[in-house]
Formats: sequence, C-alpha cells, structure tokens
Amino acid sequence: MKHRIVVLGAGYAGAFAAGNLARRLSPVDTEITVVNAVPDFVERMRLHQLASGRDIPSRRLADVFAGTGVRLRVARVTGIDPERGTVAVTGEDGDGEIAYDTLLHALGSSVAHHGVPGVAEYAFDVAGRSSALRLRERLAGLGGGGTVLVVGEGLTGIETVTEIAEARPDLSVALAARGEPGAWLSPKARRHLRRAFDRLGITVHEHTGVEAVEPTRAIAADGRSVPADVTVWAAGFAVHPLAAAAGLEVTGAGRIVVDRTMRSVSHPDVYAAGDCAHAIGENGRPLPMSCASAGVTNMQATAAIIARLTGDEVPVTGLEYHGNHISLGRRDAIIQMVDGDARSKSWYLGGQTAARFKSGVLGAAGWGVAHPTFGMPKRKRRLATAPDPATAPDPVTAPDPAGAPGPAGAPGPAGAPGPAGAPDPAGARAA
Ligand SMILES: Cc1cc2nc3c(=O)[nH]c(=O)nc-3n(C[C@H](O)[C@H](O)[C@H](O)COP(=O)(O)OP(=O)(O)OC[C@H]3O[C@@H](n4cnc5c(N)ncnc54)[C@H](O)[C@@H]3O)c2cc1C
Repeated sequence: MKHRIVVLGAGYAGAFAAGNLARRLSPVDTEITVVNAVPDFVERMRLHQLASGRDIPSRRLADVFAGTGVRLRVARVTGIDPERGTVAVTGEDGDGEIAYDTLLHALGSSVAHHGVPGVAEYAFDVAGRSSALRLRERLAGLGGGGTVLVVGEGLTGIETVTEIAEARPDLSVALAARGEPGAWLSPKARRHLRRAFDRLGITVHEHTGVEAVEPTRAIAADGRSVPADVTVWAAGFAVHPLAAAAGLEVTGAGRIVVDRTMRSVSHPDVYAAGDCAHAIGENGRPLPMSCASAGVTNMQATAAIIARLTGDEVPVTGLEYHGNHISLGRRDAIIQMVDGDARSKSWYLGGQTAARFKSGVLGAAGWGVAHPTFGMPKRKRRLATAPDPATAPDPVTAPDPAGAPGPAGAPGPAGAPGPAGAPDPAGARAA
C-alpha cells in the first residue's frame, strides 16, 4: 500500500510543501493529497489591497498542481483524529474522511478577536479573503467624509491603514495603537512612518487600547470614544483550534509545538508549518507568523518527512528571520532588517525603491506558490521499508544543500526571503 501524505492547507506553507514532496518522492509508493477550503490560492499578503478596492491576481489550485501528481481536495477540514490517522472534511461532495500516514498541518491563521465585545458583530478584518471582500464592499458604500478606524499598530494594521487612506482620500482614516506605531523600528524608519501617516492624512491615536466596538464607534480603555463608521480589527492573528481539539500539544495560543524538524512533539506522524507551527528560530525565539516563516518551516518539514521516509539522515535547514517589508500604500514602503536578536538594525530603506522591492517580494511569493516544484531536485526517491519511518529515532544532521531553502524559502537579496519564503517578521504580524 502507498504511504499517504496529507497536507492540510494550500497557503504559502502548504502549497509549496505539497509540490516539493511530489517532486522528490516517487508516486510508485507515495500518494500526496492537499486539502484546502477554497479552490484558489489566497494571497493573504495582498488582502489589505483587495479590501481597499484593488484587484489582485487569483490562481486556481487545480492549475497550480496540474502535472505535479498532487491530488487536490477542495473541502474544509473539520476534525483530526490522530489515533485513527484520519481527517474529517466537508465540501461540495458532502462530509468525508481522508486517511493519512503522515500529516502536514499548514492551516494558517485567522483574525483574533481577543474576546473584545463587539468585534465579532461589528468589526471588519483583512485576515481572510471573504472578510476582506466584506470590507471592500462596505468601504465602497461609504460616502466621502465617512470615518474608518483601523485597530492595531502591528504590520497588518500599518499596511491596512495606509492602503485605505491612499485609496480613499475622501475618507477620514485613523489608527488606534496600544503604544506607539512602529515602536520596534529603527528611529529613522519610525520617522519615515510618521511622515507617511502625515502625508496620507491618517490620525494616530497612540496609547489607545480598544476595549469595545460598537456600530459607529470604538471605546478606548480610558472611556474615550473614537468615531468609526467602519472599524477594521487588525489586532492579531489566531490559530485554528483544530490542532488543540485533536489533542496535539499546542501553546497557549494554539500553535502546534514542534521539534527542530517541524514534527509535532506529541504525535510523530504529524508535522506543522507556517502560522500554525510554534517553531523556534535560530535566534532561540519563536518564529513570527509571516510568509518568511512559512517558507523556512515548510522547507524544514518537507526535508524531514522525505529523509525519514527514505531512510536518510534528517537535514537541518535554516530557520532565520531577516526583517520586515512594510508597504505604506502603493508608492511607499519600509524595509527594516533585524539582527540576530530580532532587533531592528539602524539602516532601513524607504520610499519608492522600498515599494518596488516589496512589490517584487509579493510577486515572487505568489510565483513561488504557483510553481511549487520549481528548482527542486527531480530525482524521485523510493521509500525505505524498515524501520518504520514515522517512529524510528533518527540523527539530525547539519544544514543540507538539498533541503536548504530553495525558491520557497531561500534568503534573497539583502537577506530577504525568496519567493515562497518571502518577507517578514512575524510575530510582528501577530501584533
Ligand atoms: C493583510 C495581510 C498582509 C500580510 N502581509 C505580510 C507581509 O507583508 N509579509 C509577511 O511575511 N507576512 C504577511 N502576512 C502574513 C502572512 O500572510 C501569513 O503569515 C502567511 O499567509 C502564513 O502562511 P500559511 O501557509 O501558514 O497560512 P495561509 O497562507 O493562511 O494558508 C492557510 C491555508 O489553509 C486554508 N484553510 C484554513 N482553514 C482551513 C480549513 N479548516 N480547511 C481547509 N483549508 C483551510 C486556507 O484557505 C489557506 O489556503 C500578511 C497577512 C495579512 C492578512
């Protein structure tokens, strides 16, 4: 019987991982299935653009995987039973079950409401395509002079507020920040950010933690009321509760606890990559939720799965985090590199050059997912028969060029991640 590898999620991490596995393992004894809730690849890094009224390219997953040997199942995952090795799904064909021998969990993340009253009922977000489209529709119906409040001073909040302000100069756009927006940036980059907010006419409410959202306003912790016809919640991402419900060991935030090879510490036939994985980077800190982390974690997970199945030593691939690429509308951006301790370096790049660079990173990340087997070794490996690769102890070796980041996770210019392993620091995204 063939070894069944099931990849959950075809986002930046899952799509590339599925293609990589298909390219490197022989179809004679391996079967790779990817399960995704929607038929298209959703470029999450452009959803604030989509919400602001811009059109973004769409890619059908059926085209992405055509000719790769990967089976695509468009369905929503509703449960995982690690004891039986099955995944419950529901889709157009009704409810079903998919059996696996090895599972790669890459279901990403969604908006975190943090239990704040009114967010679920009245706020909009850009964490998923359907919610971004909802916001797009609402903004389109909002007349000149309408008020928009973006809550959250992390990367997503900054990108969203600048994008909306640039696209809709007729609106009154504001940002609510618990602290100072971009406080983690170098002083020069922080000044650049301030100038961008001023240029775009964005009002910044600093030290304003929002404690409740109502239909036409947000209420701050000190009781102040901030007018908002539209409140956009960009105060963090949360991981799907499926992993915790399945009994996998997870962090308090629900991210799957993995070892250095991205294997679940509680369930050896389960791996995780992308936003849902609690992976510790080279600097000893959890990798932030980001496209870059999706790139490096999927490269490590696939390298480990292939090595264990084929009886090789498990290679250790890089888990580095290099910096932030923050768009400030279409014509401005900030590229801020960080040091080994995730502290911003004094140097930053801003303005149109940075905007062009960020646009290149986005394009490369999308291209990398659309060509998930590009640059991968073509040799199709056969499986080792014994010992059982899922449970056998294995040595872990030093970085291996074959498993080292390629187009999906490779450091690119200026240390920036390449295509599918694109940009930036993440936890930052979670903020
Ligand atoms: C507006 C915005 C801008 C961003 N900008 C940047 C940036 O500039 N740089 C950066 O590094 N990061 C950025 N991020 C973060 C980045 O998009 C995520 O970190 C990245 O998408 C994580 O990749 P992933 O593969 O883990 O998850 P995702 O890309 O979210 O993919 C998860 C996949 O799983 C599918 N899925 C989810 N639940 C189910 C289910 N129950 N059943 C079946 N399928 C399911 C989804 O449809 C999706 O295809 C941004 C995020 C947003 C929202």
